[in-house]
Amino acid sequence: MQELFDCLDEIYNEIVEVRRYLHQHPELSFKEVKTAEYIANFHRKLGHTTKTKVGGNGVVAYLEGAHSGPTIALRADFDALPIFEQTDLPYKSQNDGVMHACGHDGHTAILLGLAKVLNKFKSELHGTVVFIHQHAEELPPGGAITMIEDGCLDGVDVIFGTHLQAQMPLGEIGYRTGALQAAPDQFNIRIQGRGGHGAYPHQTIDSIAVGSQLISNLQQIISRKVDPLDAAVLSVTSFVAENPYNVIADSAELIGTVRTFKEETRTFIEQEMDRVISGTCSTFGANYEFKYTRGYPTLINHKEETEFIRDIARKVPSVVAVKETEPVMGGEDYAYYLQHVKGTFFFTGAQNPNWKDSYPHHHPRFDIDERALLIAAKILGMATLEYMKNHAKELQV
Ligand code: MN
Repeated sequence: MQELFDCLDEIYNEIVEVRRYLHQHPELSFKEVKTAEYIANFHRKLGHTTKTKVGGNGVVAYLEGAHSGPTIALRADFDALPIFEQTDLPYKSQNDGVMHACGHDGHTAILLGLAKVLNKFKSELHGTVVFIHQHAEELPPGGAITMIEDGCLDGVDVIFGTHLQAQMPLGEIGYRTGALQAAPDQFNIRIQGRGGHGAYPHQTIDSIAVGSQLISNLQQIISRKVDPLDAAVLSVTSFVAENPYNVIADSAELIGTVRTFKEETRTFIEQEMDRVISGTCSTFGANYEFKYTRGYPTLINHKEETEFIRDIARKVPSVVAVKETEPVMGGEDYAYYLQHVKGTFFFTGAQNPNWKDSYPHHHPRFDIDERALLIAAKILGMATLEYMKNHAKELQV
């Protein structure tokens, strides 16, 4: 394994360069045309069979080893966010209003660096590596679902992927069997009251008053109806009813998100919301429209593969702690891959120990410690080689 690590160390600067190039040229979800082209060219130069426009802007590249063996997929996403970067980095976004504020530039650099190194091992590889470069992770319905429909998992035995974590110390790895990331759903509620003069509320049905009551009532679902040991979130994130100072709101719109880990809790909250909205509106004589849109499913890691990655991570230099991580409420469409093939998704700490402040993901000052790229590449690289070693034998029998 030392050879793999040495080769990755040798190209560390190139991995950083790739990450910085991508960071300077971010593209929004479903619009990542140039990024896809960049990725495809990188693989083509290595001689990998490369498919573009997979389920949209997705790119899938294949490295076929000289020997037969399992097919291992490695996944990295490559879309950016509609955020105006506020860092002073020399490689800050050149595309105003668009920013790699979730580390997907890093994920892509990890995979490309690894592709270059694993390519050197081609004659020794027992199996195939499928590099899944996924577009549009940030915007439901996401890129994973269409890439899968378009065949990116065909023949794949196992999948591995990681997410850089800007608020987890560099050198730490987080793994977890079972539910790791929540199902992120969206709701839209339109309250239809009856507008009127601000001086004569008794002649109106005040949509703002109904909405305020509704927000309080919705919180009761989480605090009084859901088992406190079963984590769930209901956040109203937008409440819009703009009127002049002397006009009572005719209508109001509420938008928000529900996060759950269990399918039954998800369904329960959706039903309870409908009941509470209906009851609250009827109390005040208002009408309503309620739309509940399911986002990605809960990301559920497979046991054997998660323990495999855990054990690998413990052997990688510069990894100082491998911890079972708590589940997080953020969603991730990697969840879809795990519904089709076995595998795992883990967190790679990317917080520089000397930074006073580390900004959260999706923050305009978000940044990562780039040394995390090397750590993640080593884990995924070692996992690929070890998995081939362990499973090639089985296939020969
Ligand atoms: Mn992300």
